[in-house]
Amino acid sequence: MKPHLERLAAYPYRKVEAPIKLDQNESPYDLPPELKERALARLRTLPWNRYPDMHAESVRAVVARGQDWPEEGVVLAPGSNFLVLALAQAARQVLDTSPSFAYYEGAARLSGVSYRALRLGEGFALPLSGLQDGMGDPPGVLFLSNPHAPTGRLFPEAEVRRLAGRASERGWLLVVDEAYHSFSGSDHRPLARENGSVVLLRTFSKAWSLGGVRAGYLLGPPEVASKVQALLPPFCVPAHTAAILEVVLAAPEHVRGLAAALAAERDRVFHALASHASWRASPSAANFLLVRTPDAEAAWKGLLARGVLVRRQDHLPGLEGCLRVSVGTPAENDAFLEAAFAL
Ligand SMILES: *Cc1c(COP(=O)(O)O)cnc(C)c1O
Repeated sequence: MKPHLERLAAYPYRKVEAPIKLDQNESPYDLPPELKERALARLRTLPWNRYPDMHAESVRAVVARGQDWPEEGVVLAPGSNFLVLALAQAARQVLDTSPSFAYYEGAARLSGVSYRALRLGEGFALPLSGLQDGMGDPPGVLFLSNPHAPTGRLFPEAEVRRLAGRASERGWLLVVDEAYHSFSGSDHRPLARENGSVVLLRTFSKAWSLGGVRAGYLLGPPEVASKVQALLPPFCVPAHTAAILEVVLAAPEHVRGLAAALAAERDRVFHALASHASWRASPSAANFLLVRTPDAEAAWKGLLARGVLVRRQDHLPGLEGCLRVSVGTPAENDAFLEAAFAL
């Protein structure tokens, strides 16, 4: 193996069974049965012996129309993580925030590219001047999830614009990962339209209730999109994934209401936690809350003993004592709150 791969480990996720699963920021709602039936009917008519579209062209066309984006600027992948990996493989260096979504660093390490992460400031503020200075030579890729994972913070538009301006001055690419934008109402398409050094990542895994289906996409300038497309293997979006996406994309009203309802639940849980004796939640624009406790291990175990599975984040810099709690159904959120207040 190449030396940089010798100590590589698989993505750190341990599966734990629990009645209430709030550990992966999934949607608590599966597709409504009638949509699922429609997708199954479509799967039945597919010729399974044939390869799918080379670049998921039919889904790409629907996404482009729905997002008002040129088709040649859309890249579909079996999860936006594949797009993160492709971008990291192309990059000459990777810049990140810390803490951050673990796979930005994972993809950089896998790609053998130099990786640097700058600590967020007070209240998880962006280290703006550090990131601007960090975009030096050689030019590379800056990953920024906004809303941010795992803090839930939505960074001010003006700050993201400053980073985008710097990226275009220095030949960098600013990758705004909008995995959680449906829960914040934010949308960086206007910025990406104005500035050709900005690309956006979107996923079907969260607000679209399709974590198991594996799909995400990139929006960017056609010149960048065609290069990212060339970094992906051919036929990488399976025919069944494409068929399900086409059905769900034809009924977007189903997710629109869901994201708003989950955002309202997030705010309800956040306000309820304010009266907890020792736990403190950070304001969140996503479908999860980052909660600081006096002892993450004890809190995690205590919740699990009451049937609620959440994710520890206390291994990350600056997140001592922290847990990440996904927003579930109202009943699941009540169960979490009840368990939290019993600890
Ligand atoms: C969940 C998440 C994704 C989604 O990745 P997929 O491979 O599309 O499931 C991407 N970015 C961030 C920051 C996430 O939290």
